Amino acid sequence: MPAILKLRPRMQRLLSPSVRQAQAIGIVAWLATLLVDPAMSVGLCSVLITLGLWGVYRFHRGVMNFYLWRALGVVYLVLLSAGFAYVIRSNVQLQVLALPLTVTLVVSSSILFVSVQDYLLSATLVWLVMWAPIQASLVNGLDVYLLIFCASSLSIGFVLNFSYLKNLRSVLLVESEFRQLAQTDYLTSILNRRAFMEAFTQLIAAEESGYFIMLDIDSFKLKNDQFGHDVGDRILCAMADCLKSTPGSHSFGRIGGEEFGVLVVGDDLHVATDFALRLLQGIRGSVAPPHHYTCSAGMARFAAGADMSAVLKVADRNLYAAKRNGKDCVYLEGEPVWPRLFVATE
Ligand code: GH3
Ligand code: MG
Ligand code: MG
Repeated sequence: MPAILKLRPRMQRLLSPSVRQAQAIGIVAWLATLLVDPAMSVGLCSVLITLGLWGVYRFHRGVMNFYLWRALGVVYLVLLSAGFAYVIRSNVQLQVLALPLTVTLVVSSSILFVSVQDYLLSATLVWLVMWAPIQASLVNGLDVYLLIFCASSLSIGFVLNFSYLKNLRSVLLVESEFRQLAQTDYLTSILNRRAFMEAFTQLIAAEESGYFIMLDIDSFKLKNDQFGHDVGDRILCAMADCLKSTPGSHSFGRIGGEEFGVLVVGDDLHVATDFALRLLQGIRGSVAPPHHYTCSAGMARFAAGADMSAVLKVADRNLYAAKRNGKDCVYLEGEPVWPRLFVATE
């Protein structure tokens, strides 16, 4: 997904509180206008507009769909303008206030829209709705001035909206790049220790259970010493590729120099052990000789709400049991894990 599309929900979340506050102020202003002339508030039109404004205000808050959220922003402003236009139409003396009110609505709403098109559509509709009730006699011969005010208020609003959105997008893009960097291992481009542990914490907090697998490349120091660090680095990247291409894991990451962690969700022991054995099998053939390598694994079960550090300790103990007993194997509860076919024929 393009980065700019990923920003949409974030922009919606960031702008939502300001939009709600501005909408609440609009409703208060509308009700205050009705209270000045109580006769006005009992008309069908004012009742419908009040209900419409309140409905949009209440509904807008919970809307998750980005397009509906944008559309409701435009609907609210047009409804509010229609309300003020209705009041102005009912009281000729108020017509002198139409121009400043329209300019205020058009300019002040400019930073409440997440798209320039939405803003221009809404501002144009506000002008059309607000200008409809003004008697032609009031602006007779002043059309040019009116046009200038209309064009300049729209232009100011456009510039404000455009530059505000541009700055907001670039700040959010930089922020998401930094977030990505902070979570990624620089060499293998998979999750780093911090991000992996965070994923584990979230899984436990979400009441999920499953298996944690701790993996450690066998005799890696020897590979480095024999072939050099650059070959060692390539082996680490090949290991990360194996983790990516072996289906069945929830998440995985590099948790140390040549140590990796994998989470498999679900209580089925065989699913988890089959995954670990498939992974080790893939690792064996992932790099051609003489740089080929193997890996040992220690597994630990975790239940919903488990103590993460206790789970890590159990997996660590099993990993070292695997190292002590010949390497290139998987251990769980102090015992080696065998392929299921092998167990069945034993
Ligand atoms: P064992 O089978 O018992 O795990 O032995 P080992 O040699 O794999 O373990 P040891 O802890 O003795 O060595 C780990 C080596 O991993 C030492 C270190 O130089 C190497 N290493 C750690 N991080 C990196 C890295 O980013 N790149 C390379 N090339 N090597 C690394
Ligand atoms: Mg190690
Ligand atoms: Mg090692």
